[in-house]
Amino acid sequence: MRKPFIAANWKMNKTLSETQEFISKFIPEVKDVSAVDIAIAPPFTSLALAAEQLKNTNVMVASQDVFYEEKGAYTGEVSPVMLVDTGCKYVIIGHSERRQYFNETDDIVNKKIRAAKKTGLGIIFCIGESLEEREAGKTFDILQREIEKGLEGIDPENMVIAYEPIWAIGTGKTASAEQAQEVHEYIRNKLNILYGKKSENLRIIYGGSVTPENIDLLMYCKDLDGALVGGASLKIESFTRIVKFRKVK
Ligand code: PEP
Repeated sequence: MRKPFIAANWKMNKTLSETQEFISKFIPEVKDVSAVDIAIAPPFTSLALAAEQLKNTNVMVASQDVFYEEKGAYTGEVSPVMLVDTGCKYVIIGHSERRQYFNETDDIVNKKIRAAKKTGLGIIFCIGESLEEREAGKTFDILQREIEKGLEGIDPENMVIAYEPIWAIGTGKTASAEQAQEVHEYIRNKLNILYGKKSENLRIIYGGSVTPENIDLLMYCKDLDGALVGGASLKIESFTRIVKFRKVK
């Protein structure tokens, strides 16, 4: 049985005081949730504060990105060791917004995963196709390439795969439960080919306009082990409801 994993991706949102307010109100809401792993990925500026507030709670801190070098003259970048130092447990790597706006290639994503894993950080590895690619029938080709290149030479331990169809991110268009299940099943088979028995513990989560209204149905899908939540994670009420999903048909 894989424990569900639900993570908030705040993207470039929330100042220090907004982070503090959110977390102080969110912790009591979810303190009794033990059946779900919960993580929040605030912007870099809020990481240390969030980690301090979340110490000894059931909510982990994640980073939204990382650089692959350990240290040096890389203005503006943050290393895996620095993330561990702030109290981060996970890092999101390969988010489509990084691939799209910051030219992150599969090769860069692979280097980041390698570097982050060396420090023991858990990885939330994002993959997904664009609308154009889906309409051209290339969904599985894209996912195959992203998985094979992104995970080349990588041990699967402490890895979460996030399937995030680009056309569903921030658009209000969620993949239907059937569409999500079809792709999650494909990814699970692919991971099984790559990692054999070890792949059984890997969680495959869904991201793309997840809301309190659609989480229950999505979580009913056999191969869907959680969610990466953008917009709906910015409000305490909606993120709490997502974390407290109920499986329904
Ligand atoms: C995301 O950024 O990972 C995401 C899924 O965003 P949203 O929930 O807003 O679509």
